[in-house]
Amino acid sequence: MRIDVLTIFPSFFDVLEVSLLGKARGAGLLDVRVHDLRDWTHDRHRTVDDTPYGGGAGMVMKPEPWGEALDAVTEGSERPVIVFPSPAGEVFSQRTARALVETDHLVFGCGRYEGIDERVFAYAATLGEVRLMSLGDYVLNGGEVAAMAMIEAVGRLIPGVVGNPESLVEESHEDGLLEYPSYTKPSSWRGYEVPPILLSGNHGAIADWRRAQQIVRTRERRPDLMPGE
Ligand code: SAM
Repeated sequence: MRIDVLTIFPSFFDVLEVSLLGKARGAGLLDVRVHDLRDWTHDRHRTVDDTPYGGGAGMVMKPEPWGEALDAVTEGSERPVIVFPSPAGEVFSQRTARALVETDHLVFGCGRYEGIDERVFAYAATLGEVRLMSLGDYVLNGGEVAAMAMIEAVGRLIPGVVGNPESLVEESHEDGLLEYPSYTKPSSWRGYEVPPILLSGNHGAIADWRRAQQIVRTRERRPDLMPGE
C-alpha cells in the first residue's frame, strides 16, 4: 500500500520509522511518503494560509498549494482515496480502517489553523474519492495526530504487518464488542489472582468466559455498542 501525507509539519511523522510500521516500511509492505505542503508555495515566506472571507477568527489554508500538491501526489494513480482529517467529518472506526486497507493508494491532507479552503475538497474529488474523517468529537490543533492514528489503524491490518493474524481478529471492535481481559504470568501478583478458569486448560469454558466478559465490559463501558439494548 502507498500512503502520501501532505502536511506543514512533516517531522510529526518521524515516528513511522519505528515499531511495527517501521518494520513494515523496511519490508516493503507499506510505502509512506511524507511531503511538506510548503514545497508547493511560490512566495518568499512559503505562505499556506490567509484571512477568511466573510471575517472571523483565525486563518484558513489557501487552495493553491493544496491544488498543486494533490496534483503531484495523485499523478498516475487511479483514483486514490483522499482523506482529510476533520472534526466535521464522519467518525473513523475499525470498520473504516478495514475498508481503507483494501485501497492501493491513500492520501492524507492534514489541515491546520481553521482548516482548509472548502473548494479544495471539491477539487480533490476530481482526482480521487474524498473522505472527511474525524478521530472523535473534540478539536485538535491539526490533522497530523489524526492522520497518524488512522495510518496506524489501517497499516496494522496490511497482511504481514502484525505477526499473528489471529491477534487482529480477537480485538476490540472487530466483532462489535470490546475485548475480554488479558493476563500473563505470574498467576498471582501482589495479591491479585488470574481468574482460575484461565488456568483450567478447558478451552471451551475459557471461550465462553471470554465471551461473557466481552458482553459485561461492553455493557458497562460502551452501552452504545450493545446491539438491541
Ligand atoms: N475550525 C475547524 C472546525 O471547527 O471544524 C477546526 C480546525 S482544527 C483547529 C485544525 C485541523 O485539525 C483541522 O483542519 C483538521 O485537519 C484537524 N482536526 C482537528 N480536530 C480533529 C478531529 N477530531 N479529527 C480529525 N482531525 C481533526
